[in-house]
Amino acid sequence: MRSVSVFGATGSIGESTFDLLMRDGGPEAYRCVALTGGQNVARLAEMAQALRAEVAVTADEARLPALREALAGTGIACAAGTAAIAEAADRPADWVMSAIVGAAGLTPGFRALRHGGKLALANKETLVTAGQLLMAEAARCEATILPVDSEHSAIFQALVGEDMEAVERIILTASGGALRDWPLERLASATMAEALAHPNWSMGARITIDSASMFNKALEVIETREFFEIEPDKIEVIIHPESIIHSMVGFRDGAVMAHLGAPDMRHPIGYALNWPQRQTLPVARLDLAALGALTFRAPDLNRFPALRLAREVMALRGLSGAVFNAAKEVALDHFIAGSLGFMQMAAVVETTLSRLAGEIALTSAASTLDDVLGADHLARIRAAEAAATLRK
Ligand code: NAD
Ligand code: MG
Repeated sequence: MRSVSVFGATGSIGESTFDLLMRDGGPEAYRCVALTGGQNVARLAEMAQALRAEVAVTADEARLPALREALAGTGIACAAGTAAIAEAADRPADWVMSAIVGAAGLTPGFRALRHGGKLALANKETLVTAGQLLMAEAARCEATILPVDSEHSAIFQALVGEDMEAVERIILTASGGALRDWPLERLASATMAEALAHPNWSMGARITIDSASMFNKALEVIETREFFEIEPDKIEVIIHPESIIHSMVGFRDGAVMAHLGAPDMRHPIGYALNWPQRQTLPVARLDLAALGALTFRAPDLNRFPALRLAREVMALRGLSGAVFNAAKEVALDHFIAGSLGFMQMAAVVETTLSRLAGEIALTSAASTLDDVLGADHLARIRAAEAAATLRK
């Protein structure tokens, strides 16, 4: 019986993962080691009971009594706090889903790698902030990282049996998010509710807003660079409003392999769960005749400064990805709180990158996770200062 753990079980990716595990036989088919969540301990407790998890961990220490109460008499161990989440990752499991949102997913992902199993990586921030370290650690521990981001899963699948030498380019598709058809002048006044109205994908709130600002695509460009070890100038982004082609790989003979499917994260999660096999998955089948047409357009870098900043980060590499991500997280917090405008998020990230360039060696590679966390910490302080100056 395979053992599994899910970090961020109560989120959007976590729920989809839980759904697949339950459909697949739940506790009859999997030994569930650890499930972690945040504030929704009632849901975490339900999931832990359904999968008969060994331990359930909430990130929020204040909610430990509620979690204990919900799981009283079940024999499921309860814990709380960031350290407890990291400790849960020390428990060996054959397959681990990393689906905490943000830089908080970094440490558990790294610790889970040490068992040398499979790490299904939804938390793109891990690759953006610590890509080189992560890939080196995976190689050292003989662990396999399976991408869960739909674009990266698509690229991974298009590359099966191929030689990286023959890859000429990777074309990442982007829906363009909720505001893709807005005139540029109006974007500055976009509200959170408007940014949350994603046309195709149902996801957590933070990634949905990042889709509208294209910070999500910016993170994914960097993620592509780190995961596939491909030069930045070979990575292209194209707006594809229907979200049917999840990404493409272009080869030196001119062929382009595209991965198509319904926009449902249970596909890439299920692919990672069953890799290297393919199993039947409960996702809608494409009806191409009903779709009629797939459309594409080039992204406008004036609307999406995040894409330009991603190019700068790839040129700098080193610690710049950690700074970029941390500044973006702070800017997003301010946008959600209503204290920054939509287009000011990119300004905060840009200011933070240029300020940190004068304070730390941005281009030097991190040799430990602490280097990454240190850059992340400093970037958060500078980004908060930048946000305070810009405050709308
Ligand atoms: P979400 O907000 O729906 O869920 C996040 C999960 O992490 C929840 O379980 C939450 O309780 C937990 N969490 C939040 N803050 C935490 C903290 N500080 N410490 C510990 N746990 C914490 O997010 P999501 O949309 O499921 O995204 C999860 C990750 O997957 C993100 O990195 C996102 O970029 C990536 N991703 C998501 C999708 C998607 O369709 N949702 C697609 C591709 C990649
Ligand atoms: Mg994606």
